[in-house]
Amino acid sequence: MKICRYNDNRLGLVKADQVFDVTSVLATLPAHRYPLPTVDPLIANLKTLMPAIEAAAQTVQPVPLSSVTLLSPIANPGKIVAAPVNYKAHLAESQADTQINFNTKVVEIQTIGLFLKATSSMIGAGESVKIRHPERRNDHEIELVVIIGKTADRVSEVDALDYVAGYCIGLDMTIRGPEERSMRKSLDSFTVFGPCFVTADELNDPSQLNMVLTVNDEPRQNANTRDLIIGVRQLISWASSFYTLHPGDVIMTGTPEGVAPVQPGDVIHARIDQIGEMHVHVSALAPKH
Ligand code: MN
Repeated sequence: MKICRYNDNRLGLVKADQVFDVTSVLATLPAHRYPLPTVDPLIANLKTLMPAIEAAAQTVQPVPLSSVTLLSPIANPGKIVAAPVNYKAHLAESQADTQINFNTKVVEIQTIGLFLKATSSMIGAGESVKIRHPERRNDHEIELVVIIGKTADRVSEVDALDYVAGYCIGLDMTIRGPEERSMRKSLDSFTVFGPCFVTADELNDPSQLNMVLTVNDEPRQNANTRDLIIGVRQLISWASSFYTLHPGDVIMTGTPEGVAPVQPGDVIHARIDQIGEMHVHVSALAPKH
């Protein structure tokens, strides 16, 4: 099942290039008062909701996917976990290029560990990446994103995929420079999730997925998740050995080689096998009045 969020927070079931409005199923989610839960309620209840989503889709006329504005398919991740330099060829390019590493030592992922991005940086494919510091180098990073489906505390690599609700494409937009990753990668709009998420029952092996990113049709990144240094199972196990992962938390698994700058006016195209593809526009941040 492919599920999207679009326009004014509509929930959609995607089939081929059509969207079925299944927003009505959200009425069955538990109502919340302060304090709000630390999970994403849709993801926490996804297994129960999937039959209702399928049934609701039978009752509505679809609209073309190209006619809607896509939001992040995950509305409320509790945390965005991210893996730095998790492909060997990207490690090599980062160590070799001072425009990427800014003369700071690029430490291997096994040593430096995972980092977090602010949830406020998240947008969907139909919203544009806003360049807030045009004088800096602003790079694209395509990544496979794992959406956690149930509470994961110290899970083994063997069991890790049992905790996955689904997958989507991620863009870990990044300012190059000397600051901490969490700051350089948490600007508003610097985490793009989309176009929809595909449920884990449809994508049961994340270890052999091709991914391609172009900018204005120019090839930039082209890789396969088989080349991850730390694979999806190991990332879930490792992350959950430090903190509990909750339903709706996401893990950005790292970017392959080919990272490069974007400018306002550019259009990023990103595609990952079995998930889909998305076009994301890059624009200048409007001046503050
Ligand atoms: Mn990244």
